[in-house]
Amino acid sequence: MNLSQKQKILKAGEIAKTVREYARTIVKKDVPLLEIAEKIEAKIIELGGKPAFPTNLSINEIAAHYTPAYNDETKAEGLIKVDMGVHIDGWIADFTFSLDLENNPENKKLIEASEKALQNAIEKAKQKSSLGEIGKAIQETIESYGASPIINLTGHEMDEYDLHAGLAILNITNKNSEKLPEGLYAIEPFTTKGSGKIHEGKPSGIYQLTNDKNVRNPEARKVLNFIIEEYKTLPFCSRWLVKKLGVKALFSLRQLEENGNLYQYPQLVEISKSKVAQAEDTILVENNEVIVTSGVL
Ligand code: MN
Ligand code: MN
Repeated sequence: MNLSQKQKILKAGEIAKTVREYARTIVKKDVPLLEIAEKIEAKIIELGGKPAFPTNLSINEIAAHYTPAYNDETKAEGLIKVDMGVHIDGWIADFTFSLDLENNPENKKLIEASEKALQNAIEKAKQKSSLGEIGKAIQETIESYGASPIINLTGHEMDEYDLHAGLAILNITNKNSEKLPEGLYAIEPFTTKGSGKIHEGKPSGIYQLTNDKNVRNPEARKVLNFIIEEYKTLPFCSRWLVKKLGVKALFSLRQLEENGNLYQYPQLVEISKSKVAQAEDTILVENNEVIVTSGVL
């Protein structure tokens, strides 16, 4: 990681901190998710960044990957996860907070468990603990609240224009004795009182470029070129394309998916339909220092 890359990572993190505070003021019960997502994404741009992926606003048992469609009328409620991304030239800050919009003490406990687990995991990373010990800290913290971590969702390494690069940071005790190598990582404990696992739900309308091979339809080719130019290998959503290119882009998206150019993420749903809370921050690990780029810790 050279100096200019580090500066981009830190700048994305500074924007993230401001966006997080802003988002906390606009996520309220009964506000349309569409309005929330668009305001967050506009704020990121206003501050000089770009959204690294569509704002995820996942409610209750949906753990992740819900972003409003262009015509979505869903309103904020329940236990909501606000998962946001900022990038500067492909260098990402990935960060999440959860809110309880129904004044439910159980929700608040799940949220507190995720936040505390994140805090303890970051503490372990700063102490140069192993990945196994980081996972153990997350699991034990969450279990101390009488809840479970979601075992098949993990934190992850990030690289330039790559949201999910190589290494995974497990949310459970494991035998990995390796320490976090230098690099950029998201740590994200998910907490539930359910069975602690997610499965794939409905299509999310969130896509990622997987292959730039040719597609016959000229309109679809145009959309593909736009995606390559605008988002590169970062996730984007149908809502963004409708905004830029009109509803006809939806037809092209389907063709590009069928042609193998795009992967569409599924929504991720807790299998026992129990509520899920999440907390997430991005850390930059260097030889002599661990910096929480997107947070205050
Ligand atoms: Mn995230
Ligand atoms: Mn993440």
